Amino acid sequence: MKRPTVDPSLESDGPAMRALLRALKTRQEEMVALLARFVQCESPSHDKAAVDAMGEMVAAEWRKRGAKVRVVRQPKRGNHIRAELWLDKGRPSGQITVLGHLDTVYPLGTLAKMPFRVAGGRAWGPGTFDMKGGLVLALFATDALKALGAQLRKRVVFLWTSDEEIGSYASRGLIEREARRSDAVLVLEPSLGREGRLKTSRKGVGHAELIVSGRAAHAGINAEDGVNAVHELALQINRLMKYNNPRRGITVQATVVSGGTVSNVVPDHAGAEIDIRFRRISDAAPLDRKLRRMRPILTGAKVELRGGVNRPPLERTPGVMALFRRAQSLLKECGFVLGEAATGGGSDGNFTGALGIPTLDGLGAVGDGAHTPHEHVVISRLPERAALIAGLLAVL
Ligand SMILES: [Zn+2]
Repeated sequence: MKRPTVDPSLESDGPAMRALLRALKTRQEEMVALLARFVQCESPSHDKAAVDAMGEMVAAEWRKRGAKVRVVRQPKRGNHIRAELWLDKGRPSGQITVLGHLDTVYPLGTLAKMPFRVAGGRAWGPGTFDMKGGLVLALFATDALKALGAQLRKRVVFLWTSDEEIGSYASRGLIEREARRSDAVLVLEPSLGREGRLKTSRKGVGHAELIVSGRAAHAGINAEDGVNAVHELALQINRLMKYNNPRRGITVQATVVSGGTVSNVVPDHAGAEIDIRFRRISDAAPLDRKLRRMRPILTGAKVELRGGVNRPPLERTPGVMALFRRAQSLLKECGFVLGEAATGGGSDGNFTGALGIPTLDGLGAVGDGAHTPHEHVVISRLPERAALIAGLLAVL
């Protein structure tokens, strides 16, 4: 095999990537075993007790590794876990924050239909890919750094939050606080595609609820006295669709609709959930304003819009690209090629990127099927991804 050539300006001075990879390959089975334990602890975002149990399990693993662990208690959502790692004696020269989430989109009981299993070189089950695989990688990356006696320049803060899948309303403040202290943020969300590409840009995300009220009437006797809320909703959705601008990366989609009671009554209520995506941060405020300017179209109807823009986009800035090239050159030392991708899905990296902190996302496992019955990770790629995380922690 031809030895990969590395641009000397990008060459790392951390522990040799090949040594990290060798150490991690011997632990592949243990990684799968830990992933099994994490997946078997179901942790839907809305179930505090379940997410707390998952957090405790993760906290215990970090305590075993000598990290300083703090449980950040939450009244309604699951508790967040903050694990701080500093491997050297002196003072760190800065901070790196590593982000991931404990929650999944799967309700309790999903395991009965979709059990954790290993087949065809893959580990299957709810949350394997998004993103309990990432939680496992961080732990083994830390083990490998310790085993090789690596020196870190910076303190590493691992933040495992409890509500990423439902908008991060309970964790955003904490995430932004740690990010502001950091020189870089690494996000262990799933990678993209079979090649395991990193995510160097993500669209901004919003979620709104459109609530329409009208006036009920008998559909046969006095329909003309009613104000049909479903009709108003249809007209409003038609207007909303005009905000779509694919060339600019803006999408506004009505995704879930409801309305009416029974078939012979002019409905007095209707509603829709609206998904909003945008590529540029400068589009956020104008789009939000446009949505809020919504006025009723039918006489007598009322419309109300709740929610709006939530996550700003993660933009492909020079800081993001410098991090990406660092990652690329690390994997090149092991003979692997690393690609990048843009995605319409948001993550907590959107928050940290918007603060201007260089953020590299998609550093988690290689796999497919996030949020679906065929969610899985590719087992043979676990060591290489853990080595990449370890390498980044050592050189940044
Ligand atoms: Zn995720």
